[in-house]
Amino acid sequence: MSPPHANHAAHERAFRRLAFPEATAADWGDWRWQLRHRVRTAAGVARVLELSARERRALATPAAWRMPLSITPYLLSLLDQEAPDGPLRRTVLPDVREAQVRKGEYHDPLGEEAHQVAPGLIRSYPHKVLLLATADCASFCRYCTRSRAAGKGTGRASRAAPFPRAALEWLRRTPEIHDVLISGGDPLVWSDARLDRLLKAVRAIPHVDLIRIGTKTPAVLPQRITPGLVRILRSVRPLWLSLHFSHPAELTPRAARACSRLLEAGLPLMNQTVLLRGINDNRETMQRLNEGLLRLGVKPYYLHQGDMAAGTAHLRSTVAKGRAILQALCGQVSGYAIPHFMIDPPGGGGKHHLFPGGGRAGA
Ligand SMILES: *Cc1c(COP(=O)(O)O)cnc(C)c1O
Repeated sequence: MSPPHANHAAHERAFRRLAFPEATAADWGDWRWQLRHRVRTAAGVARVLELSARERRALATPAAWRMPLSITPYLLSLLDQEAPDGPLRRTVLPDVREAQVRKGEYHDPLGEEAHQVAPGLIRSYPHKVLLLATADCASFCRYCTRSRAAGKGTGRASRAAPFPRAALEWLRRTPEIHDVLISGGDPLVWSDARLDRLLKAVRAIPHVDLIRIGTKTPAVLPQRITPGLVRILRSVRPLWLSLHFSHPAELTPRAARACSRLLEAGLPLMNQTVLLRGINDNRETMQRLNEGLLRLGVKPYYLHQGDMAAGTAHLRSTVAKGRAILQALCGQVSGYAIPHFMIDPPGGGGKHHLFPGGGRAGA
């Protein structure tokens, strides 16, 4: 058998020629082209992917979707390599069960709105804050914890949305804050110029020691990691990145190249994964994902129990399963490949450790 991504480049080229015949190889490698050509409609998906009856049914009922649809051409090329109903497909294609809101599910499952200290600035801990720079992402994950915001004012409008001036003012006058996590949405959908301006402003605050960026671009839009972006990021070190790979199928040569560029610039890489039912909640997939991440120089940091976000029950696995998987991995893999298993229960109390340690049995 050939290694999983031996034919990656050939497949990518064939898919581009078939699905986006007007695009050149340079277009395909250009993150702005990828963003402009995100597929946002059922017809757009049906045009380029062979679909199962189940996938077709869900795409035909947009009234049931919990959030808009948005998938980069690059990610579509990975979905095309999977069988219908495959694991990566289920992370980004809608499901009719999204319309079912279960008891105990919320539109703001982490209670972030109550912890907002300035527009888009969430303080749930004394020394660190979460800055939600934008509601837009390159691709929308169906299990998104902030789906209430996802896609609101996407596209050019949101990337040019108000600069977080009030959040920066709050940070300047709050010396207890040492750690700023910039997330969203995905802050890397911003232009280089805008990102540079935000990062320089945060770096100029003397009491801010650590800057972190949460981004899924290396998994769904690796073209975003350009030499120009890397220069901007490295200029404000110490800067750490929290990536978001969910499945080994995302660990492509393009993703590996994106990670290498970041690492070569002295930017440490961590990963966060959500435990997803039928997608990555088995020992074999978790092992391939976490060992694959280490090979790319990325430390598996958090494995998250799925938040109680409205309409995500069909994607939520169980705490017992997550614990059992990590328990089984211990001793089988390098200790570096074992993430912390976390839960962030409704109510805004913050994260709790489920593994190792942690006593929230059955939570
Ligand atoms: C997760 C989170 C952080 C960062 O938490 P770490 O455990 O330090 O990675 C910060 N603020 C908020 C609101 C969070 O949810």
